[in-house]
Amino acid sequence: MESSTNNTAWKTLWKLRIPAKVKIFVWRTLHGALPCRVVLANRHIKVSGQCPLCAIGAEDILHMLFKCPRAAEIWSLLECQKFISEALEYDRAGSAVLEFLLCSSFRSGIPPDGFPELVATTCWYLWWERHKIGHDEPVQLPAQSAFAIRSLAANFTAASPSKAHLKKQGWTKPPTDRVKLNVDAGFDADSLRATMGAIIRDHHGNFVSATNWKIDFVADVEAAEAHVVRIGLELVALTGCTRVIIESDSFRM
Ligand SMILES: [Zn+2]
Repeated sequence: MESSTNNTAWKTLWKLRIPAKVKIFVWRTLHGALPCRVVLANRHIKVSGQCPLCAIGAEDILHMLFKCPRAAEIWSLLECQKFISEALEYDRAGSAVLEFLLCSSFRSGIPPDGFPELVATTCWYLWWERHKIGHDEPVQLPAQSAFAIRSLAANFTAASPSKAHLKKQGWTKPPTDRVKLNVDAGFDADSLRATMGAIIRDHHGNFVSATNWKIDFVADVEAAEAHVVRIGLELVALTGCTRVIIESDSFRM
């Protein structure tokens, strides 16, 4: 991505009502940093570059998320096909197609409310299903996957109704002598599980490093936030940066 569009995508992505793990997945995809089979095959890791689902295409990001017949069927079941088609006309790189879907307005109509969240959730789910195939687990029927994706996206959106409104300012670059650490913690009060993500960017707005992880027991949302900051700072230390600004959806330090 160009750095100017980079920031637009970043701002859009950070405001989406989706868990940190999905944001980080989308971020990696926008950077073309998903280890798909084509990439592994190019690195001479012993896998075929071919899609294991349809065996008619090379498994790159574009194919995995949009072009594979199974993915296309799921997008169609989710009633997103016309927007996908428009994005596919725009570019041939999977990362650019995803960026278009998240950031653009469409000539073929106005997408429904929650469309960017649905796009992000669908891409993440398609990726996760492929991971399962790699472990010889059965794949659901496209209709079952589409149903699961709709439910997940609706849950994500409902679980954080105010985040988009809370964060009135978009992402801003840190001063030239600092990096910015953005953290996000999703906390499920029923299971006491937390999902967290941390992303570091430099003063140009360029991606430096990111991580995400799960914790099976966290007392409350404040504990989850404290934990995410600690891990985020460890990540900052690993990058060798010493001056940092920390920002999350709920606080700024
Ligand atoms: Zn395929």
